[in-house]
Amino acid sequence: MQIIEDVSDMRQWSKTQRRAGRRIVLVPTMGFLHEGHLCLVRAARARGDRVVVSIFVNPTQFGPGDDFAAYPRDFERDRRLLEAENVDVLFHPSVRQIYPPGAQTFVEVEQLSLPLCGSVRPGHFRGVATVVAKLFNIARPDAAIFGAKDYQQLQVIRRMACDLNMDVEIIGHPIVREADGLAMSSRNAYLSASERQAAVCLSRGLCKAERLFKRGESAAARLIDVVMTELRREPLATVEYVKLCDAETLADVDAIDAPALLAVAVRFGRARLIDNRVLKHQGG
Ligand code: AMP
Repeated sequence: MQIIEDVSDMRQWSKTQRRAGRRIVLVPTMGFLHEGHLCLVRAARARGDRVVVSIFVNPTQFGPGDDFAAYPRDFERDRRLLEAENVDVLFHPSVRQIYPPGAQTFVEVEQLSLPLCGSVRPGHFRGVATVVAKLFNIARPDAAIFGAKDYQQLQVIRRMACDLNMDVEIIGHPIVREADGLAMSSRNAYLSASERQAAVCLSRGLCKAERLFKRGESAAARLIDVVMTELRREPLATVEYVKLCDAETLADVDAIDAPALLAVAVRFGRARLIDNRVLKHQGG
C-alpha cells in the first residue's frame, strides 16, 4: 500500500491508473477506522480495480462547539488495518494541502443541507460537500462509496455530484452495526460503559417503529412517538431530534406514502450519535 500525502502525487497516481484503464474507487473517511469503514473498503474492492482510502479530519465540517480537536485519531492503527485490506493508496493530506492559505471557495447544497443534522450543525454540510468535491478533483475516482449511517450526507453528495455534473458514481452502503444493533461509529469511542449500554436505544427504537410500520401504522406522529418513548427510557440520553421525512428530499412528512427516512440524533455525554431506518411500503 502506498501512502500519499501530497496532492500533486495523488493526482499523478490517479492519472497513471486512469491512463491504464483502471477503475478507481474512493472511500473518504476521517480515520479511527472500524468495521463499518472496512466494509466500505471491501465493497470498493468489489466495485473497482484500484481502491483509494482517504483519511482527513476535515476542519470545515466542525462547528465552533464541535469536537474537531478531540476527534479520535490513530494513524498507525488505521494504516495497518488498510494494509491488511489490500488498499492501493492511503491518501492522507494535511489541512494546508486541502485548504491552501486564502481559500474562499465552498460548495453549498442548499435545501438538503438544512433539516436534520443541518439544523443543529449549521455549516456542517457545506464543509462536507466542499471537502468531498476537493477529494474528487484530486483523486479523480470513477466511483466513491459512502455509508447510509450518514444518510443526509449521502443525499447531499449525490445531489452535489448530479448538480455539478461530476463524473463520479456515488455508491451507498448499508449501515454496519455491532452485534446488539448499535451503528458503528468512530464517536462510539467517547462512550463510557454505561453510555455504551444505553446507546442501543437508538436502534431499538428504530426497530420498534419499523415493526409498527410493518403492522400498518403510517402516521409520522405515532412512529416518532414509539422512538421517543424508547429513547426517554434512558436517562443518559439527550434527544436532539427524531424525524420522519421524505427519503429523497428530506422534507418532513405527516405519513408514509413514499419511501421515508426515520432519523434520530441523540447525545450521550460528549458523544453525538445518529441512526436511521428507511421505511417503505412493499413494492414501493
Ligand atoms: P467517517 O470516518 O465517520 O467520516 O465515515 C467515513 C465513511 O464511512 C462515511 O461514508 C460514513 O457514512 C461511513 N460509515 C461510518 N460508519 C458507518 C457504519 N456504521 N455503517 C456504514 N457506513 C459507515
